[in-house]
Amino acid sequence: MYETLQPVAEDPILALMASYRRDTNSNKLDLGIGVYKDEQGQTPIMQAVSSAERLLLERETSKSYIGPAGSEGFNRLITQLVFGADHRVIGENRVVSAQTPGGCGALRIGAELLAACSPTGRIWVSDPTWANHRPLLAGAGLEIREYPYYDSAQRSIRFGEMIDSLNGAEAGDIVLLHGCCHNPTGADLEPEQWRQLAELIERRGLLPFVDIAYQGLGDGLDRDAYGVRYLAEQLPEMMVVTSCSKNFGLYRERTGALFLIGRTPAQTERAGGQLFSRIRGHYSMPPAHGGAVVETILDDTGLTALWQSELSAMRERIRYLRHRLVDRLEQVGVNGDFGHIRHQRGMFSFLGIEREQVVALRKQHSVYLVESGRFNVAGLSNGSIDAFVAALAQTVG
Ligand code: PMP
Repeated sequence: MYETLQPVAEDPILALMASYRRDTNSNKLDLGIGVYKDEQGQTPIMQAVSSAERLLLERETSKSYIGPAGSEGFNRLITQLVFGADHRVIGENRVVSAQTPGGCGALRIGAELLAACSPTGRIWVSDPTWANHRPLLAGAGLEIREYPYYDSAQRSIRFGEMIDSLNGAEAGDIVLLHGCCHNPTGADLEPEQWRQLAELIERRGLLPFVDIAYQGLGDGLDRDAYGVRYLAEQLPEMMVVTSCSKNFGLYRERTGALFLIGRTPAQTERAGGQLFSRIRGHYSMPPAHGGAVVETILDDTGLTALWQSELSAMRERIRYLRHRLVDRLEQVGVNGDFGHIRHQRGMFSFLGIEREQVVALRKQHSVYLVESGRFNVAGLSNGSIDAFVAALAQTVG
């Protein structure tokens, strides 16, 4: 039976990782894969996470099933983290949350539910967006449309065109938005732009689906959540996805959450029931460990303070690397306009170089970036910036 299956085209990021591993140059630099790295190039386990794991080892008494929605405590605390403890959707009982296998699990199960209830079955995504959004959303049966987002020449958001395009969306269409630290561009919407979007979404009867996979890595936990909280304040219905992969460093533990906001408590409860039943029919229930770690941290003021200070250090380090890189590029006089890298947010930005230059960086300097020229700022370090700048100077002039 399997002979009818065609070979799968190689995933560009996984292929890049494999060629990085094979490269024997001791000064090789991986700026491709989207994980946070410290000055030593490691992706460390956060201390708050290790402490929580030690506590869990002592306290956990059972590995019995946790149910499709996951842990009640995790859901309560992660809802407060994303929306803020005083948000109206919590007070009004209009939000239901499910612990999910990472942000990906949340995106897929959210898309499954939306495909079943959106009258048009269409979702608008930014051009460009994170590559895995497409298979996750289209695989659930949603039809994908694009709205213009990033202007590579101007290195800024094409907001006017984005609005024009979304004005052509039909009632019942879904709009996928990045809550903060847009992947891959690093270009985020300003508060005034979120306000205009909320007005458009309401006027056209669209449903916002916000992916906030990097809360805390841009401007801070609360400021990064501005857009998501504002839309939830203004609009009757919404879907939101979060991930604990980056801000808790729990990548492989597959920890995230899906939030559904409904018009009334009764509608929210009914939709939540549908959500949990769909989860049961997919992966039955989420893995428990990562959620238990997050719950242990957020339920303990000392551990929460430790986690927040570690997260701030990561955020500050990314910001520092952004400035230091652009300072060095300007001092060396590398050809090009790199100023946007300073003020963009999160782990990624586009260098704004050609594909051939990306290939030359890899072949001649063992610097690994994805073909679009997106690079992981957190993959740099004080020790590697100068070599990276020198490689860029030789490649782009
Ligand atoms: N959304 C975006 C925009 C992402 O970049 C990622 C991770 N790269 C995710 C969601 C999902 O992450 P995970 O499934 O690892 O939690």
